[in-house]
Amino acid sequence: MIVAVDANRCIRCGFCETIAPEVFSLDGAPHAQVVLEPIPWHLQDLVCQAAEECPEHAIRVEG
Ligand code: SF4
Repeated sequence: MIVAVDANRCIRCGFCETIAPEVFSLDGAPHAQVVLEPIPWHLQDLVCQAAEECPEHAIRVEG
């Protein structure tokens, strides 16, 4: 699984970091960053949940 955040869409709401803090971080960046790749299998459901709940549809998941 590959995940990416669209910097132009992210509004820094923090939902993704709350849902999957091992994968998403807002520390020191103007938008959410993916800090763990590839995504381990045990976190993939949470990443999908974060993508679904992102209010700006800024998280793209492939694979
Ligand atoms: S949930 Fe979406 S808009 Fe909110 S911080 Fe994460 S990527 Fe950005």
